[in-house]
Amino acid sequence: MKQIYVDLVNIPGAPSFEKHVKQYMKKEISKYTDNIVEDKLGSIFGVLNEASKGPRVMMAGHMDEVGGMVTGITKEGLVKMIPLGGMKGAVYLSQHMIIYTDDLEEIPGVTASKPPHLTKGQKDENLKFEDLLLDIGADDKEHAEALGVKIGQQVISKNDFVTTKDGKKFISKAWDNRIGCGMALELLEALKDETLECSVYAGATVQEEVGLRGAATAAGLVKPDIFIAVDGSPCADSFGGDEISGKLNEGFLMRFYDPNAIMHKGMRDYMEKLADKHGIKYQYYQSKGGTDAARVQLAEDGVVVATIGMPARYIHSNTSMIHENDYQAVKQMLIELVKSFNNETYELIKSNV
Ligand SMILES: [Zn+2]
Repeated sequence: MKQIYVDLVNIPGAPSFEKHVKQYMKKEISKYTDNIVEDKLGSIFGVLNEASKGPRVMMAGHMDEVGGMVTGITKEGLVKMIPLGGMKGAVYLSQHMIIYTDDLEEIPGVTASKPPHLTKGQKDENLKFEDLLLDIGADDKEHAEALGVKIGQQVISKNDFVTTKDGKKFISKAWDNRIGCGMALELLEALKDETLECSVYAGATVQEEVGLRGAATAAGLVKPDIFIAVDGSPCADSFGGDEISGKLNEGFLMRFYDPNAIMHKGMRDYMEKLADKHGIKYQYYQSKGGTDAARVQLAEDGVVVATIGMPARYIHSNTSMIHENDYQAVKQMLIELVKSFNNETYELIKSNV
């Protein structure tokens, strides 16, 4: 996997703690354009061809990942947390997690789990993330404070990025959604010397995992005509799954329906034709969640939106898995799509509803 993705997934960045991901994004964006815009919540975009008379095209990943936030320390020195984003307690039992100070100093720990000898007859399924305690090896509360723990710090799963034995899959935390952040960088790189008939704002939002908040403010900043979200979406293929629940190595996800956004009909027709024309593999996908597209579509008098989904197993846990071939499909689709936008194609899409 390209080094930018390895770098991106290793940076800790729970919702509202995107600062260090953003610094990395800014450094990389500045290789392709000097025109960089930011909103007041932290979202950041590189701009190409700003003076264009064509449509304003916005593309975004989101910089945040699910993580915990420190809310207290018990007198025994264990750390209390709340979840930032959707996190199931049972998934995080006995996991290595790290508390980060503002300077990214690491305080490693493990989520406390009672051994089976002490929990006979009890079930873990209903365990809430906020019921877990993080054991950082402190002897008591004062010791934990002396080690640097403070209320409000972020807590992130320890990452062990690995490539699988066949060399085709990549296991890491935070594919949801550093894959989208990397795609924004790759889009800018691919388009920086192209003659474009639209203006392009490519970058990443903040606080997606706690309710698509950065998408609202970023849309206010960019005022797009068209918005493309690229986001990691969960696959059910390792548990059987069905035709529309996502499979690794079947191409990008044509996210035609989720409860918060039905893909714009004109955009779906257009994307199907374009993917077929370029021989890009895709699969229809229905989700129970939402992406930034749901929020951006309701900005101003409406925005034509689409999500290009990246198939990813096990997201919203301490790790996740993606496939090289899907990465290529997402990237190719994104680049061809944005390259194709002009006043004529925008009118064609917009009028087909
Ligand atoms: Zn996401």
